[in-house]
Amino acid sequence: MSSAPGPSVPPLRVLELYSGIGGMHFALNSCGVPAEVVAAVDINTTANHIYAHNFPLTPLWGKSIEGIQLGDFNQLSIDVILMSPPCQPFTRLGLKRDVVDQRTKSFLYVLELLPRLSPPPRFILLENVKGFEESCARNALVEALDQCGYSYKEIMVSPTSVGIPNSRLRYFLIAKHSDEDFCANAHSKILECFPVHAEPGVCEQSTEAPHQPQGPFLYKLETAEEVQKKLQQNQDPSIRQIQDFLEPNVDLDQYLLPPKTLLRYANILDIVRPICRRSICFTKGYGRYVEGTGSVLHTSPKAQMEAVFRGLAELSEEQRLERLQTLSLRYFTPREVANLMGFPLTFEFPEDVPLKQRYKVLGNSLNVVVVSKLLQILLS
Ligand code: SAH
Repeated sequence: MSSAPGPSVPPLRVLELYSGIGGMHFALNSCGVPAEVVAAVDINTTANHIYAHNFPLTPLWGKSIEGIQLGDFNQLSIDVILMSPPCQPFTRLGLKRDVVDQRTKSFLYVLELLPRLSPPPRFILLENVKGFEESCARNALVEALDQCGYSYKEIMVSPTSVGIPNSRLRYFLIAKHSDEDFCANAHSKILECFPVHAEPGVCEQSTEAPHQPQGPFLYKLETAEEVQKKLQQNQDPSIRQIQDFLEPNVDLDQYLLPPKTLLRYANILDIVRPICRRSICFTKGYGRYVEGTGSVLHTSPKAQMEAVFRGLAELSEEQRLERLQTLSLRYFTPREVANLMGFPLTFEFPEDVPLKQRYKVLGNSLNVVVVSKLLQILLS
């Protein structure tokens, strides 16, 4: 006869707001804490199609958050809220319209609901862009948390701090309801690394390189400082190489940069090689726009970057193109971008999602490994 099972802790009931393609859900699944997403909410039909493909059993509410009543949320009996509110109102290069931006409306509604949620969620994790930390929306969030009896930590980290060769500096806030044991907001500083469990003000060592000053251009419109910074990043053994994240057989016809792009934008491309230990943040415009939307890969082992770029401007268009093409520059595939964003191999796009849409939803998403580590700190 088998003995009766011991009392088991029921899985945490998680509400995933602004669920997109489910970056938070993947992070939750890998953080090692038993949990179930009881509802995911997003208005984007493409993102929802991808979410449903990957999590067919999760209730997905394809409607706007501000249209959902308090009672509907309360029926879920939520333990945890995970959310990535729209970041456009807070981005460095945007208009920074903050709380007056229409896209912040739903977030303010969430803050309004917070004191009325019953039972109050025990844990909250929020992700947003750099810039959010100095917004009125952040102040409203912190005020609501204080009023509802939460303690919280604010953290700014990039995937490089978990050994992934991709920059994606993001703001995170993790909060626990006061019934939980969590020594936080004793300090008002934003941590620039993962908090160590026992001591809230102490950080694990960060590998994010500090901002470098500008200087005269060398070649390819890069200053000596920028080149130096990249060299340093490429020599940091705590970060893995790009080649660990690449697909074995990539259809070059589909991913090589077209001649027009090479001729027009060669000087502003961020180019990395498989042995590099860095890449820039992939944004939603990757594959459509060039400047600052993500790195491209130099796949030809023989061609030397410096030799290709030196004196390039003096050549005819035809000669320039010929030289640039020796680098065999290609875009990272969506699968490779997903790998660099920490998505597990089980993550899949439904076949009918076009390439540009794949880049777009990935660009809106988050680094799964980073969030998973934060969830471990928050929930365990
Ligand atoms: N963390 C997600 C992405 C968040 S991006 C991921 O891993 O993919 C912000 C998301 O919020 C977008 O998918 C957008 O469609 C959604 N969104 C924006 N405003 C919304 C609203 N009012 N109600 C519901 N979803 C909204």
